[in-house]
Amino acid sequence: MNKNYETALPEGYVTAYEIDAKNKKVGILLNMAALLIMAAVLAAAAALIRPANLLENFDPLKWGIVILAMLAYIVLHELTHGAAYKLLTKQKLTFGFTATVAFCGVPQIYVYRRAALISLLAPFVTFTLVFGGAVLLLPEAWDKMHAAVLLAMHLGGCAGDLYDTLLFAFRFRDPATLMNDTGPKQTIFVPRNRS
Ligand SMILES: [Zn+2]
Repeated sequence: MNKNYETALPEGYVTAYEIDAKNKKVGILLNMAALLIMAAVLAAAAALIRPANLLENFDPLKWGIVILAMLAYIVLHELTHGAAYKLLTKQKLTFGFTATVAFCGVPQIYVYRRAALISLLAPFVTFTLVFGGAVLLLPEAWDKMHAAVLLAMHLGGCAGDLYDTLLFAFRFRDPATLMNDTGPKQTIFVPRNRS
């Protein structure tokens, strides 16, 4: 059976990459990437759905529900990472918030690439299906747009997860690659001579 994690960094591994969302520059770049993704998704949704005039169709109750759903989403996104980590490692999880990031990590272990990818992508896949499905299935144009606002926020909020995923997809393809995830900070380790 494939091992999902190590409790200590094995002999011969070296640090290959660090991404720390609490680092000011990284935080700003991730938030800018998030805003760009949100703007792109909203623009695409508006162009495809073509909802009628916002002011004439403004429904405060529905926008209130959108805002509550956003707040719930932030927690559910992290719980989805946590559920994947828990299933794969059975370890104690860490959750938290800062001004710019919400996070879930499993700081005391080193997870293998496959388990890291599953946990990174769990919220992306889950909520893309939920909000994307709502955009497609809701019959009324403004209801589709409300769902699209949630989809846009979700995809933007996955910027950090997607960045880590791209690193694993293109740069760290060795299955022996390990990741330590404190929540806001991910450190990638590779066997020496294989980096
Ligand atoms: Zn995430």
